[in-house]
Amino acid sequence: MQNALTLSDGVAKLKGAGPKLAEKLANIGLNSIGDLLFHLPYKYQDRTRIMPIGSLRLGMAVVIEAEIRAAQVTFGKRRSLLCRLQDGTGLLTIRLFHFSKAQQNHLKTGYRIRCYGEVRMGPTGLEMVHPEYQVKEEGDFPPLDNRLTPLYPTTDGIAQIRLRNLIEQAIEILNRQGGLSEWVPPQWLTPWAMPSLSEALRTLHHPASSDDTVALLEGDHPAQQRLALEELLAHHLSLQALRQAVQATGAHPVPPSRKLAPALLTQLPFSLTGAQQRVCQEISADLAKPLPMLRLVQGDVGAGKTLVALMAALQAIESGLQVALMAPTELLAEQHFLNMQAWCEPLNICVDLLLGKTSKKERDGILDRLDTGKTALLIGTHALFQKGVDYANLGLVIIDEQHRFGVQQRLALKEKANNGTPHQLTMTATPIPRTLAMTAFADMDISIIDELPPGRTPVVTTVISQDRRDAVIRRVDAACEDGKQIYWVCTLIEESEELQAEAAEATANRLAEALPHRRIGLLHGKLKPADKSRLMQSFKAHELDILVATTVIEVGVDVPNASVMIIENPERLGLAQLHQLRGRVGRGTTESYCLLMFGTPLSEQGKQRLEVMRSTNDGFVIAEEDLKLRGPGEVLGTRQTGAIGFRVADMERDQHLLALIPELAQRLTTEYPSHAQPIIERWLSQADRFAQV
Ligand code: ADP
Ligand code: MG
Repeated sequence: MQNALTLSDGVAKLKGAGPKLAEKLANIGLNSIGDLLFHLPYKYQDRTRIMPIGSLRLGMAVVIEAEIRAAQVTFGKRRSLLCRLQDGTGLLTIRLFHFSKAQQNHLKTGYRIRCYGEVRMGPTGLEMVHPEYQVKEEGDFPPLDNRLTPLYPTTDGIAQIRLRNLIEQAIEILNRQGGLSEWVPPQWLTPWAMPSLSEALRTLHHPASSDDTVALLEGDHPAQQRLALEELLAHHLSLQALRQAVQATGAHPVPPSRKLAPALLTQLPFSLTGAQQRVCQEISADLAKPLPMLRLVQGDVGAGKTLVALMAALQAIESGLQVALMAPTELLAEQHFLNMQAWCEPLNICVDLLLGKTSKKERDGILDRLDTGKTALLIGTHALFQKGVDYANLGLVIIDEQHRFGVQQRLALKEKANNGTPHQLTMTATPIPRTLAMTAFADMDISIIDELPPGRTPVVTTVISQDRRDAVIRRVDAACEDGKQIYWVCTLIEESEELQAEAAEATANRLAEALPHRRIGLLHGKLKPADKSRLMQSFKAHELDILVATTVIEVGVDVPNASVMIIENPERLGLAQLHQLRGRVGRGTTESYCLLMFGTPLSEQGKQRLEVMRSTNDGFVIAEEDLKLRGPGEVLGTRQTGAIGFRVADMERDQHLLALIPELAQRLTTEYPSHAQPIIERWLSQADRFAQV
C-alpha cells in the first residue's frame, strides 16, 4: 500500500493523514504528495549546537545550557518570573510573564536548564522571553538535533511536526521513485555548482549537518538558488507563453502616419524631446508589423506620455482603425478627453468619452458612432471593454497606468477586434527598476522616456515636523497671496474611504478656520464622480486656492498653476506613491515646493526614506530605494496583476539570477522546446498560468 504510493497521489493517502487533514492541506494549495515537496521551509531553527552565552548577539535564536543561579517573582510593571542563568561564559535572564505554580517550583536555583529562544536586550542585559526549556536536577539532557529544524508555512490545525512528518514521507517516495525529471539542462547548473532539482529539495527539507547553515538561513545556499533559478525561469516562460497566445492571431499591420502625425507636430507649440521621438519610433515600428504590439512605455510623471500615446493613435487612425484609450479612473479619463479633444479637433478626428455615469441617451449615441466607425478615438475607463461596446474596427488599445490592468484582461481584448488582436500600448508612471521590469513584464517590450521636457524646474522638497503646522499654514497663506494654488494631501493608514474622507474633512475645517479668507475645496473618494470632476475643474480654473485631498489625486491630475503641495504623514506612504503625488506639482514653469510634514516621532528608517524624497526628483532612484525598503510586491502593486508571488526566488537577493533569465529562457525554447511547458506547470498554479486562458 504505502509502497505503491507515487507523488501524484493525494495527500490523504499518507500515513497519519486522512480526508480531514487533506482538506486543510488543500486550503494552503497542497493536494498531491508531490505538492508537499515544493512546500518549502520559510526558515530554519538551529538546535544543533549549544552556544556559549558569552558569544550571543541580539536577535539570534539559539540553544543554551546553563545553571540557574537565582529565580524570583518580581512585581514591576507586570508580574513576572525571572531566572538568572550562568554558563561560565556569561549571564542571561529568562523572563516568563505567564507561569504556573508547577513551573515556579521547577525552576530552582542550582538546577541545570537548556533553553531555545531568541536573544533580546532586557533591562539588566541579555534575556530570552518565554523560551522553550527543559530543566534537570541532575544527569544529561537528551542529544541535540543533528540537523537544522525546518519551519513551514502552515495553517490552523496543522502543527509543524505533523507537516514535517508528511513531507518526510513525500521525500521517501521521491527517493524510491528515483527523483524528479530534470527540465533544466544539468550542464547549465555546473558553473554555479548547483545541485539537481531532487537533490536541492532533499537538502532544503532535510539539511545535513555539513550544510552551510548560514547560507541556508540567508537563502543563498546553492540548493535554494537552484530552485530560485527554475522558478524564475518558469515565471518568465509563462509570460512568454502569454505573449505568444496574444500574438497567435496576428494583427492588422499599420504603416507610419504620413499626414496626421506631422500635422499634429506642426500644431504643437514645442517639439518632442529626444526620448519622446525615440519611443514614438519604437512604437511606430511595432505597429507596422502583422503581430499585435505589446509594449510598455515607462516615463516619470510629466515626461509627456500622453503625446506619445496620441502619436501612436494617429498612426492607427490614419489607417482607418479605431483606438481605445483606457484610464484607471473617471477623473483621469475626463482629463485625457479634454486634452485629446483639443489636439484632435484641428485634425478633424472624432473623439468620444464613455464613462459609467454617461447617460443612457448619450451612451446610445456614442455606441452608434463607434459601431459605424465614425468615432476614431474612444476614451474611458473599464467601461470601454464591457459587453455591448462594439467597435467597427478596433486596432489599438492604449492603457494608462499599467499596474492597474490585469494580465487576463489583456488577453480578453482579443474578443473586441474583428481582425486579429488589437495592438496594445500600456503606459506607466511607476518607474520600475530594470531587472524587475524584465521579470514582471517579460511578456512586453519596454520603452523608457528618460528625459523630461525642457524648462521644468525640479520640485524643491522640504521635510518638516507636524509640530510646525502653524508655520506651514502661514507659508501656505503667503503662497496663496502670490497667486499660487496649493494641494494639501491627507494620508491615513486605514484603507477605509470613510475614515480617509473624515480625516480630510477635519483638516479642511481646521484650515478654513485658520485661513477664513482663502477658498478651500475638499476632494475625497466618497464624492460622486461628477462632484469630483466639478471640483477639479474649479480648482483648475483657479476658483479655489487650496485643495484638501486624500490620495485619490495620486495619478494624472494636471493643474499647472498648483505649485505647492503639503503632504501630511508622508511616512505612511511608499516612496513611489509619494513621488507620484509630488508629480502633481512642478507642471508649470514656476518654482514648485513640496512639504513633507511628518508625524513625530519618526523612526530612523522613516527619516532615511524621507531624506531620499528630499534629495532627489529622479523616479528611478526613488524606485530602487523603495524596492530595497519594501520589496517588489509593493513597488509593482502586483496584488492586482497577480504577476508575482514567488515561493523561493527573491527579487532583491537573486538579482544575479534575474539578469540571466531572459537568455536562459530564450535558449531553453530553442534548444529544448519540449521542456518549457513542464517547467511552467511545475511552478505555477493553474490560476497563475495566464497563457491557458
Ligand atoms: P505624463 O507622462 O505624466 O503623462 P503628460 O503627458 O501629462 O505627462 O505631460 C505633462 C505636460 O508636459 C503636459 O502639459 C504636456 O503638454 C507637456 N509636454 C509634453 N511633451 C512636451 C515637450 N516635448 N515639450 C514641452 N512640454 C511637453
Ligand atoms: Mg499621464
